[in-house]
Amino acid sequence: MHEINLSPVPPLSHRVSIGYSKDPQREDLVSSTLLRHPKSGTRVQIARIALPLPVDQLYSYRIPDHFSRWIRPGRRVVVPFGRRKLAGVVVEEGTEADLASHRARDILDVDVELPPLSEELLELTRWIATYYMCSWGEAVRAALPPGSSAATARSRVRTIAMVGLSPEAPDTPPRGNKQQEIIEQLRIWEAAEESPVPQTRLLSECGGTAATIRRLVEMGYLEIEVQELDRSRLAADELDSSEKKITLHSAQIQAIEAITEQIRADSFGCFLLHGVTGSGKTEVYLQALQHVRSEGGSAIVLVPEISLTPQTVQRFRARFGDEVAVLHSRMSPGERYDAWRGIGEGRYPIVIGPRSAVLAPLKNPALIIVDEEHESSYKQFDPAPRYHARDVAVVRAMKSGATCILGSATPSLDSLANARSGKYTLLEMPERVPINGRPARLPKVRVIDLRNEKALRKTQGVLAPQLIEAIGERVDRKEQTILLLNRRGFAPVMECVSCGWVPECRDCSVSMVYHKPLNHLRCHYCGITECIPSECGSCKNHDLAFMGTGTQRLEEELAEKIPGIRLLRMDLDTTTGRGSHHRILAEFGRGDADVLLGTQMVAKGLDFERVTLVGIIQAEAGLQFPDIRAEERSFQLLTQVAGRAGRAELEGEVFLQTRQPGHAVIQFALRHDYAGFAEYALEAREELNYPPTGKLVSILFSGPDDRETRTLADRWRKLIDRNLPEVDRLGPSPAFIHKLKNRYRHQLLLKIPDSVPSSHVRDAISRSAKAMGHLRSGFRMTIDVDPVGIV
Ligand code: ADP
Ligand code: ZN
Ligand code: ZN
Repeated sequence: MHEINLSPVPPLSHRVSIGYSKDPQREDLVSSTLLRHPKSGTRVQIARIALPLPVDQLYSYRIPDHFSRWIRPGRRVVVPFGRRKLAGVVVEEGTEADLASHRARDILDVDVELPPLSEELLELTRWIATYYMCSWGEAVRAALPPGSSAATARSRVRTIAMVGLSPEAPDTPPRGNKQQEIIEQLRIWEAAEESPVPQTRLLSECGGTAATIRRLVEMGYLEIEVQELDRSRLAADELDSSEKKITLHSAQIQAIEAITEQIRADSFGCFLLHGVTGSGKTEVYLQALQHVRSEGGSAIVLVPEISLTPQTVQRFRARFGDEVAVLHSRMSPGERYDAWRGIGEGRYPIVIGPRSAVLAPLKNPALIIVDEEHESSYKQFDPAPRYHARDVAVVRAMKSGATCILGSATPSLDSLANARSGKYTLLEMPERVPINGRPARLPKVRVIDLRNEKALRKTQGVLAPQLIEAIGERVDRKEQTILLLNRRGFAPVMECVSCGWVPECRDCSVSMVYHKPLNHLRCHYCGITECIPSECGSCKNHDLAFMGTGTQRLEEELAEKIPGIRLLRMDLDTTTGRGSHHRILAEFGRGDADVLLGTQMVAKGLDFERVTLVGIIQAEAGLQFPDIRAEERSFQLLTQVAGRAGRAELEGEVFLQTRQPGHAVIQFALRHDYAGFAEYALEAREELNYPPTGKLVSILFSGPDDRETRTLADRWRKLIDRNLPEVDRLGPSPAFIHKLKNRYRHQLLLKIPDSVPSSHVRDAISRSAKAMGHLRSGFRMTIDVDPVGIV
């Protein structure tokens, strides 16, 4: 599906030959913007380079004469560093002072194939470095295609030789049979307008070798053109051009008007588009993009995870075709590299991708859209920069005078607070897209109180009889069901029947999860697998039982209870292969299955007309998670998955199985009451000074020894006590996952009131770090600004 696509061939202007010395086109690209010393006008011989090291400084290197015309801010270069070589990016010109004070070494190589990072991106990455407290080099790394930190500037551009007949070919045919055969074949292709063709195709058709062709070129019969391959181009069959005609409804029109007015004003503005599931937010994005494109502008669309949202991506591709570059995590480094270059060269004015796409090298994007802005996958944890792509999107838009749209059915409380304070403009679409002129309703949600389900306890199953019955009805009516197994704390683990011992990963302080197909235990944090133990690790009892239910067990139970039911399972195990999400969803979309069941992967963004039932197996899972956002996450998940039901003509119904039917969050989800939930949650946050009221910074210490790591954290706490007494300091305490991949972790949390400026906090942390000095080898300190997840 993702094969290299040769047809249509790239336009002439994108054809280049390899090697910069032979490339006059590229020379004039750079020669006008050489680094020049501002005063003397002489060429500056020193470049200041950001290297991907966790050290907050730039490094000066000498520019050898033969490179000087290539070097300018934004260029990727390779430099010596100690005994190693590192790849970094030129960010500034050096001064004569650098020359004098420094025995600078020479730049070793320059990557001339990659368009230099723009001034805008250099500035944005510097902002990221400052705000998220990492080095500029680390921030710059996130703005380059993956693999860019390999210390080589060798060309990663792939080319292909295209062979065609020369218009000035001699009249007499060549002598050799093979030669004649080749010419004959090319004539046929030319008549069919298929020439020039890749040399490999020609040779596999006619036989012969590269030498035969070279000879024919020398004799003037053939021409060879070296073309650059764009491995990121999507094959034509991935383009879905089927689209229904739609008339916008009034809330959509209002939203689009406000947005296009802002785009026209050519100045920064940020919208929070709060529209219930199925209210037509994607259509608003599409119209806004259309507006930008009609004025020749460019745009970025962030989606939480490409593989989970093939339908959304398809809609963009259907509307904008080849103008769209889709970036996703399953692309090979080569594909990503090509996409990056294509975007930098202006070939793709629309970029769709996950969080890293916020740093895509578009020139002056006019619009940045963040779909499902509440999703936690927008936050990067490792490696640095630990940035939040939504927040970076807003800052990028601000810096380049662009319009930003944050869209969600369940906006994050952070964004809601910004809308309330007037930082963002709130656009609301409280109703679903009307169907045939009739208002479409959100699905009815029913609670199944599991505490009363005696039958369930007897059968040891997990599906309540009402839910099974409802699924059965859908099967009879040829409608479909989505089942969510909210897996947090619900994975199948083994337990000793007599003492309660649970096998844990030897490197991480978490339980091992049972995987039936391979009959082994696996750690979901580090991936280690182990055989099933034959006895309890504590009391040596042989009576071990499986607890909890995984998706596999759920699948079995359904197959047992509803004979003949057609099931599709979507979880980590079934989606490892490339394109596997796509396949599962396509199958479901064709109606080849009655039920799609899975983990949180099934909760998001799916739009299937025949889905009229959604079942949530353990609605309260996740509520008690030690995370300040646990309730917010749960509410979002419940609302999102419920929103998959009844999106077209057929009405939807949702069953929510739980042991805590009275829990406030479950009650709000039942009534689709976002506003009520927000009121309730914001109040709790405010009371405790948690975001969005205050700000959080987490400082995590990890090391191979528990006591030493703790001592380190304690010393830090004392430094922070001294340098930053005006903020709340919590901990240090063992992290939620105390031991991970054989490293012990302790965490210190800073709760920063709004009255304390961020710059002051950063200063205090830097001062403390200086006072602390170098950490011993093997120990690490990780600063996470605005952490998301378990804090
Ligand atoms: P959301 O992103 O808010 O969940 P979508 O944009 O996916 O909603 O819209 C839900 C469905 O309604 C999609 O199938 C979409 O094509 C369709 N749709 C959107 N706007 C309209 C409209 N104005 N008229 C008819 N159908 C629409
Ligand atoms: Zn582990
Ligand atoms: Zn035991």
